[in-house]
Amino acid sequence: LTNSQCYENLRHLCLKIGGRMSGSPQAEEAVKYTHNLLKNMNLDTAYLQPVKVPHWIRGEKEKAFYIENKKRIEISCTALGNSVGTGKKGIKAPLLEVYSLNDLEKIGKDKIQGKIIFFNHPFIPTYFDTFDAYSEAAAVRGYGAAEAAKYGAVGVVVRSMTQSLDDFVHTGSTRYQLNVPQIPAIAISTNGAEELSKKLKINPNIDFEFRTTCQMLEDVQSYNVIAEIKGTEKPQEIITFGGHLDSWDLGQGAHDDGAGCMQTIEVLRIMKALNIKPKRTIRAVLFMNEENGIKGGHEYARVASENVNEKHIVAIESDRGGFTPRGFSIDAPTDTLQKIKRWLPLMENYGIQTMKSGKGGVDINPLKPLGTVLIGYVPDSQRYFDLHHTSQDTFDKVNKRELELGAGAMTSLIYLFSQYGIN
Ligand SMILES: [Zn+2]
Repeated sequence: LTNSQCYENLRHLCLKIGGRMSGSPQAEEAVKYTHNLLKNMNLDTAYLQPVKVPHWIRGEKEKAFYIENKKRIEISCTALGNSVGTGKKGIKAPLLEVYSLNDLEKIGKDKIQGKIIFFNHPFIPTYFDTFDAYSEAAAVRGYGAAEAAKYGAVGVVVRSMTQSLDDFVHTGSTRYQLNVPQIPAIAISTNGAEELSKKLKINPNIDFEFRTTCQMLEDVQSYNVIAEIKGTEKPQEIITFGGHLDSWDLGQGAHDDGAGCMQTIEVLRIMKALNIKPKRTIRAVLFMNEENGIKGGHEYARVASENVNEKHIVAIESDRGGFTPRGFSIDAPTDTLQKIKRWLPLMENYGIQTMKSGKGGVDINPLKPLGTVLIGYVPDSQRYFDLHHTSQDTFDKVNKRELELGAGAMTSLIYLFSQYGIN
């Protein structure tokens, strides 16, 4: 808390480089910047792991309108990542509101054919952890376009993924399926969704119009950025920890996931500053392309699985924002979980209150078939979705101490694993 560098490193990443979508010049710049930071830390290794990533570009500012009594009323929107564009002319069609993917089958092809489907799935406010509400609602963003296309829809509009009622639009990726028509998809703000839903209740025959020029280009050569301190006694046992270096383009990728990347680098800085020589190898990984492909996470796991000399005992990811520490979410067999939980009292100084069963993280999840224990760092989740994937995810929203306490909590846990392993 006196010598930390993660906040200043994050300032550089956010303000000098900014949003860094996979394949963009900013992503390349972020790779160089963090690789340099790590090279200058006198670690045992600091290197780049090549990975080909998708290169999606947003194109011109998106436009959307609903048409009420022949009047076109503009509504703010953003294209979903990986979406095809509408073309310069845009598309116009009757709008049909649904709640979830399951509704499509109930409504049927006859009524969906030729329409723009409006997925209006609010966050469930009664979940304490906002990630639970997100997981549930985000299915329509990820799969809505592909599923609606199977029923003949021509476009998709998704309510933004947040519990807050505001005017910010949240992007995020959508996934097409093989042999299913690719239809364009956008998100509108929660206020926009509420307004549209109200209008549709009064008059179900509302047309919707939108125009996007986003497109997917050729894959681009990019990299995971990796650095490690080799273990003194069991160097073949690997403790991976990281965040993802790419981010959406609307903001600066501060909480998602510049924070996690800079905490990751901070773990190594603290270890070096305290002259700790871990018994097992501790390896920092800044993954590329979490947001619209997970190519970095898959490539890391592929290389790990082929390297018979490495045993990946545990992986820890920080990708839930740089807010105040609350816990660790652990994906492991029950007996392993019980053993890890014995360390909980050692974490209390950071504000860590829980170590319980749950998800690890998107980038480390591909390590699961190797039997790796997966752990997610869990900061407070209440404000994350105010910012997530929006123009509001900027450096000024990150609190220095909260960021540092997270890095400290991660360091302590990684230290314990490096000394005692998972048995
Ligand atoms: Zn993220």
